[in-house]
Amino acid sequence: MSEQDKYKYCPTCSNALVLKEIEHHKVKYCDKCGFVFWNNPKPTTSVLIHKDNEILMLQRAEEPFKGFWVLPGGFVKYGESAEETIRRETKEELGASIHVKGIAGVYLIDNDPRGMHIDIIFHGVADDAITLSREDKSWAYFTKDHLPEKIAYKHREAINDWFTKGGQYS
Ligand SMILES: [Zn+2]
Repeated sequence: MSEQDKYKYCPTCSNALVLKEIEHHKVKYCDKCGFVFWNNPKPTTSVLIHKDNEILMLQRAEEPFKGFWVLPGGFVKYGESAEETIRRETKEELGASIHVKGIAGVYLIDNDPRGMHIDIIFHGVADDAITLSREDKSWAYFTKDHLPEKIAYKHREAINDWFTKGGQYS
């Protein structure tokens, strides 16, 4: 269920929200105090960690997309820059520091049951040895011709774009 469907009451005055079309979008609206639930996409970050000809991916241990492979990353916290997010997430997920080299691309994630996200995808290299923080998840480096079958979000597209652009070893 999307957040748009989930939220029923105004967070300001507790009045029941109604659907209203504003700027050509149907949004939840409070006709008592004027609150609008815009349901903006959430910013998230990912990183293409490359080594020689290969890209590092993690296998998800939890829903959504349990068992699917993804690039490391996560949601931007309040007050955090996107680059701070990706450094924190890679430290948490891989136990490694990364050297961020730039942005590989920005993608609209419209296939996550939790809602729409804007995925800011960096590229970089891992500075330390990788040790997973959670045992039930695996990781591996993949070449572009041998990517796993199940890849979540727009990460297959991002990896293919990355190799197509040929910017991988800068
Ligand atoms: Zn209200």
